[in-house]
Amino acid sequence: MLLIGPVGFPLFSLLTLWAMVRAPYPAADLFPAFIALELFLYIGAGLSWAFAAALLASAVALSGFFFSNAPWARGLYALHGGLIWGVFWVISHFNGRRDRANNRFQEEWDGLELDLSRLQSDVENARTVIDDSQARIHAFDRLQLFTDDLVGPYHRDELLQRAQAGLGTMFPKAKVSLHLFPKPDVPDPSDEWGMKVLQWGQPRLLPSRVSTAPTWEPGLFICLPVKGRDSFLGWISLEAKQPESPFHIHDLRLASIGSDLISLALGNTERFSQTEALAISDELTGIYTRGYFNERLVEEFRKARHNGRPFSLVILDIDHFKKVNDVHGHHMGDEVLRWLARLVMAQARETDFVARYGGEEFVVIMPSTRGTDAFRFTQRLVKIVAATPFRWGQKSIKVTLSAGVAALTADVTNEEEMIRRSDEALFAAKKGGRNRVRSYSD
Ligand code: GH3
Ligand code: MG
Ligand code: MG
Repeated sequence: MLLIGPVGFPLFSLLTLWAMVRAPYPAADLFPAFIALELFLYIGAGLSWAFAAALLASAVALSGFFFSNAPWARGLYALHGGLIWGVFWVISHFNGRRDRANNRFQEEWDGLELDLSRLQSDVENARTVIDDSQARIHAFDRLQLFTDDLVGPYHRDELLQRAQAGLGTMFPKAKVSLHLFPKPDVPDPSDEWGMKVLQWGQPRLLPSRVSTAPTWEPGLFICLPVKGRDSFLGWISLEAKQPESPFHIHDLRLASIGSDLISLALGNTERFSQTEALAISDELTGIYTRGYFNERLVEEFRKARHNGRPFSLVILDIDHFKKVNDVHGHHMGDEVLRWLARLVMAQARETDFVARYGGEEFVVIMPSTRGTDAFRFTQRLVKIVAATPFRWGQKSIKVTLSAGVAALTADVTNEEEMIRRSDEALFAAKKGGRNRVRSYSD
C-alpha cells in the first residue's frame, strides 16, 4: 500500500503525458480509465498523494485544455479537471469525518484505558488490603491458640516452655530463644542483651542483633522482656531466620501482646505457688500442715512398702503445754511452738519430713530409717529440748517432750496403722512419766 503513492503517481503522470502527446484525441478514450485510476490512487495512497494527484491531473487537464485542437476534447479536459477536484473534495470531506470519528473513538478508547488501569490499580490495592487483613486474621488466630496454651500450666517452668513453643508457632519464620535471669531482676553479667532488655523494660524491634537502636522499619531482631508480678525474670529473643523475611512493626505489636500474656500468666503461676505454699505450710510455725503430712505419709508409706525399705514415724507432744499457756500466756505459748518447730527442723535430716500434727504435737516422717535409728534420733531430740530452755527476754521456760516411735513392719498394711502405733507409743511415754521416748511394741 505504501508504494501506491510513490510508484502510482509518477506512473499516472507518465500515462497522462503519453495520452496527451500520442493519442489522436487526448484523454478522450482514456478518460474513464484515468478516473478509475485516480480513484484507486486516492483511496489507496491517502489524501496527501490525492492532493498531489489532483494538482497534477489539473495541470494535465489545463495543458490538454489549451493545447488540444478538438473543441469537444477541451470540454472534456475542463470536465476532467472539475471532476478531479470534485472527487477530491468528496473524499477529503469523508476522510475528515472519518478522522474526527477516529479521534473521538481514540479519545474514548484512551479514557477507557485510563479507567481500566485505574481499576487494575484499585484491584491491586484491594488485593494487598485483603492479603494484609488475612495475615492479621491468621496472626490473631495464632494469638488465640497461644493464649489457650498459656492458660493450662500452673508452674513457671512449664509455662515458660509453652510460651517459647507458642511464640515459635506464632512466628514460624523466627528462631525463638528464652533467656532466664539467674535471679529476678538480675541478669547474668555475661548476658549483655539481658542487661539492655532489663534497662528498656519494653519490647523492641531492632534492625539486627548488632544494633540496639529501635526501628520502625522492618528489622531482624525482636527482644521481649519476661516480667513476673513484680520483677523481670528474663527475656525472649525472636530472630528472623532469613533476612528476606524480616519483622514488621505489626509483628512487634503481636509479640508485645504475647509478652504481656506471658507476664500475666507468670503472675498467675506465682500466685498459684504462693497459694499452694500457704495450703501446705502451717501459718504459725511455717512447717508443713497436717493435710500435707497426710498426703506425704500415704506417698512415703507406699514407696517404702513397694521398695521393701525401712520406714519410721515419730509423734512428738509437748508435756504440760497447757501450763505454759496458763503461766506465760498464749502469746508466749505460740513463741514456744515456733521455737520448737525450728529446733526439730534443725535436728531432722533433709530427707525427713516435719509437720505440725495438732496444737502442740509434731510428726516426723523418716523415710529409709529403721525403728532403732528413729528411736535414737528422737531420744537425742528429746534430750536436747529438755536441756535447752526457751528464752524470751528475761524469761526462761523449760519445755520437755514425750515421743512415740513406730517402724514399718510386715504386719503394717496401711499408713493409718503407723499413726495409730506411734500414737500408742506416745501414750506409753506420757504414761511412763513424760520427757521420754517409747517405741511401739506389740
Ligand atoms: P500433756 O503432757 O498430757 O500433753 O499435757 P498438755 O497440757 O500438753 O496436753 P493437752 O492436750 O491437754 O493440752 C494441749 C494444749 O496446747 C491445749 C492448748 O491450750 C495448747 N495449744 C494447742 N494449740 C496451741 C497453739 O496454737 N498455741 C498455743 N499457745 N497453745 C496451744
Ligand atoms: Mg497434745
Ligand atoms: Mg501436750
